Amino acid sequence: STTNDSLMARRQAAVAGGVGQIHPVFTARAENATVWDVEGREFIDFAGGIAVLNTGHLHPKVKAAVAAQLEDFSHTCFMVLGYESYIQVCEKLNQLVPGDFAKKTALFTSGSEAVENAVKVARAYTKRAGVIAFTSGYHGRTMAALALTGKVAPYSKGMGLMSANVFRAEFPCALHGVSDDDAMASIERIFKNDAEPSDIAAIILEPVQGEGGFYAASPAFMQRLRALCDREGIMLIADEVQTGAGRTGTFFAMEQMGVSADITTFAKSIAGGFPLSGITGKAEVMDAIGPGGLGGTYGGNPLACAAALAVLEVFEEEKLLERANAIGERIKSALNTMQVEHPQIADVRGLGAMIAIELMEEGKPAPQYCAQILAEARNRGLILLSCGTYGNVLRILVPLTVPDEQLAAGLGILKASFDAVLK
Ligand code: PMP
Repeated sequence: STTNDSLMARRQAAVAGGVGQIHPVFTARAENATVWDVEGREFIDFAGGIAVLNTGHLHPKVKAAVAAQLEDFSHTCFMVLGYESYIQVCEKLNQLVPGDFAKKTALFTSGSEAVENAVKVARAYTKRAGVIAFTSGYHGRTMAALALTGKVAPYSKGMGLMSANVFRAEFPCALHGVSDDDAMASIERIFKNDAEPSDIAAIILEPVQGEGGFYAASPAFMQRLRALCDREGIMLIADEVQTGAGRTGTFFAMEQMGVSADITTFAKSIAGGFPLSGITGKAEVMDAIGPGGLGGTYGGNPLACAAALAVLEVFEEEKLLERANAIGERIKSALNTMQVEHPQIADVRGLGAMIAIELMEEGKPAPQYCAQILAEARNRGLILLSCGTYGNVLRILVPLTVPDEQLAAGLGILKASFDAVLK
């Protein structure tokens, strides 16, 4: 019979080495916050397919909506023959994305594609080519997104220099000694040393860095960026691919920042496990590119649009924003208790249910424990993820639909794993 080991051997032989896999586990089935592997083992899923499953695996409503769409048609290409669900998703996002102005939306397939298109729109609208991105930011693996991603290994290692016209500012992170003032000064340095503000089309950032380590920008910092962008005619792009779709306790994290972006990207949990992404922005900005300049064969695929509309209904019906905050509080309080016994748990933080545990020892990042804790937790039936520019952060992206008892069981496994590894 099929085993994880046999599939791993075939994977090694057949799949390109650049495609990583965090856990040596192969999936047979999944439902809400539970995954079963090909050997029949059951796992609690705290990874959620990297922030894609805020409504859980195969939410019955999402499944039913996709099944119904599958009876009608699966593809026409929206650029050839339109369909209402694409328009409905755009209408909904125009409402949900923060910003007190008329908005328009375009749909794509992956987060990287959303980022690429956000930059294209900003370039077309401003007639400028420069972009400022941040240290440890993550924006994707396609070429322009990769140029914006602020971490060489493993993302662009061995591929040569990425495209020019990207300038790197420091992301504010008090825990690692970068203040809001330092971060603002790093932008002023770019203006002094590298490029005039009038050559910068956009400043792109994640309101809470995801892959970089779950570090939140402060509302005050975001407001300073907004003021700078307003002064210099620069587009502010909020990459909400990971923070969006309710993870942080508001539908978009920018709602908690007191200012809005000109262009917002979304993907991941917006369609509950189906590939859908998009950008929403000021109507006049979004219209800067003429017909044919935006799109893609699969962008806004009908199955994915049906899923997204169901996800939005589930958020309302099940009050998942409130649930995100409740879950987040419960997880943080459990972690704070574990912190008492394990001083290596240096920081517990998170907006809503986007929770990080940062491991340090003697004042230094302690990535050596992350892999051990991931393995220990997996052996005990819990799937976790790590992240962080120093690789020393454990992150929790559990479905917001997780039953209370299962959440408690997962946190119990986490505690047992800390007890086993952090002696
Ligand atoms: N932006 C952010 C903030 C992300 O977290 C990710 C994915 N981790 C991306 C962009 C890229 O999305 P995708 O992998 O769907 O291309």
